[in-house]
Amino acid sequence: MIRFENVHKWFKDLHVINGVNLDIAKGEVVVVCGPSGSGKSTLIRTVNQLESIQEGNIYVDGVCVNDHKTNLNKLRAEVGFVFQSFNLYPHLTAIENIMLSPMKVKNMSSAEAKTLGMSLLEKVGLAHKAESYPSQLSGGQQQRVAIARGLAMQPKVMLFDEPTSALDPEMVGEVLKVMKDLAMTGMTMMCVTHEMGFAREVADRVVFVDQGEIIEAAKPEEFFTNPKHDRAKQFLSQLR
Ligand code: ADP
Ligand code: MG
Repeated sequence: MIRFENVHKWFKDLHVINGVNLDIAKGEVVVVCGPSGSGKSTLIRTVNQLESIQEGNIYVDGVCVNDHKTNLNKLRAEVGFVFQSFNLYPHLTAIENIMLSPMKVKNMSSAEAKTLGMSLLEKVGLAHKAESYPSQLSGGQQQRVAIARGLAMQPKVMLFDEPTSALDPEMVGEVLKVMKDLAMTGMTMMCVTHEMGFAREVADRVVFVDQGEIIEAAKPEEFFTNPKHDRAKQFLSQLR
């Protein structure tokens, strides 16, 4: 569903992505971890071309995303993205935030978008907050609305960039639960997170990135019990 082929990216002289190869199968959940500044956000942002690449190719469901002929609006409709900061529209209610893209991009009627939006709010446990504005919601609730908003476009894949790292600790669990439920539905997911409990329990594979390279990619039990590379060992020891 997602394929990175010898991907390189530079910010001026800084070589931030250094020859990444990675295949993510349909329905697979991949957790990406690694030290701060190692290129995780940049890597995940290349999938929907929020960051361009200078070398290699990236495919989503067979479509080369870095091909200049690719329609980026269409691509971004198929690739849901949840950021660390919730970035909901503050002047729109929860349900309006979710309805916006289906109506604008998919020409859905307001009634259809509302039905879809309410079913998604139900899935993330927030049907009762449909008419609330973001400022009236907790961080965890806002992030759950942001996930519902991403799902409203019925994407082929969902990308998460540290979706819980801006949350108060007591709210992390509710967001991870929504992500876990989503994984159970067979969604293809690429998640940058340091929630190693989530990685152990939900991920099919853990990918460890350091200095723009994939140093290790393994099943969680293998990665956590027997990391091969020194840098991965060191990273894991610092988390505990
Ligand atoms: P991570 O998400 O793993 O912390 P990032 O992908 O955010 O890492 O950053 C990787 C490297 O690229 C860092 O050295 C960072 O400072 C640099 N970087 C990120 N975004 C930009 C940018 N827009 N311009 C220049 N350098 C950037
Ligand atoms: Mg980051």
